[in-house]
Amino acid sequence: FFITLEGGEGTGKSTQARRLAAHLRATGRDVVETREPGGSPGAEAVRHVLLSGAAEPFGPSAEALLFAAARADHVDSVIRPALDAGAWVVCDRFVDSTRVYQGAVGRVPTALLDALEATAVGAVLPDLTLVLDVPPDVGLARAAERGKGSAADRFEKEGAAYHAAVRQAFLDRAAEAPTRCVVVDATPDADQVARAIIGLLDARLGS
Ligand code: C5P
Repeated sequence: FFITLEGGEGTGKSTQARRLAAHLRATGRDVVETREPGGSPGAEAVRHVLLSGAAEPFGPSAEALLFAAARADHVDSVIRPALDAGAWVVCDRFVDSTRVYQGAVGRVPTALLDALEATAVGAVLPDLTLVLDVPPDVGLARAAERGKGSAADRFEKEGAAYHAAVRQAFLDRAAEAPTRCVVVDATPDADQVARAIIGLLDARLGS
């Protein structure tokens, strides 16, 4: 079973991915917890190139190609083998982030993103996607709090309009795939959000 967590900065995806994986392990499941961009040694190297500011920023299409290369490696070396072995996979960001950041925000043509997704991912699509949603001011405040004392990646330096556009694009994406995606109000504290996620997963699985 393949679960992805999606959403903008400061929505708490990483915290919730960790908690969900811990819950699934505690209920006896074999879980692989991973993230994008990254998740495999090759993909983490691409992540560094994309996020560290070590290179000049790429244009949206070049960026989409790099994200796709990282994803292909991650799917081939981590996600597909784990699912084939019967494990649960919990992944922090996946294809919907590309549709939002490179597609809706970066304006990379849908046809290119479709082709990249077909190559990088094939049939390895999530069974369930949790779209964590907070108002942009909450997300920005959380991201700023987390970023104190550490360098923000280049995507985290964007302003309120960018965060609002990202949020709306994730909500649009969820509305386009209502069977796979569930929007989760991530405004409450982490414990409450974690309980809500476990509740909706149990309902989904009929347990
Ligand atoms: O989830 P995390 O904060 O680690 O993501 C790193 C950054 O990469 C985010 O700031 C996000 O804006 C950016 N990103 C992106 N396109 C993707 C995935 C992530 O621009 N497909």
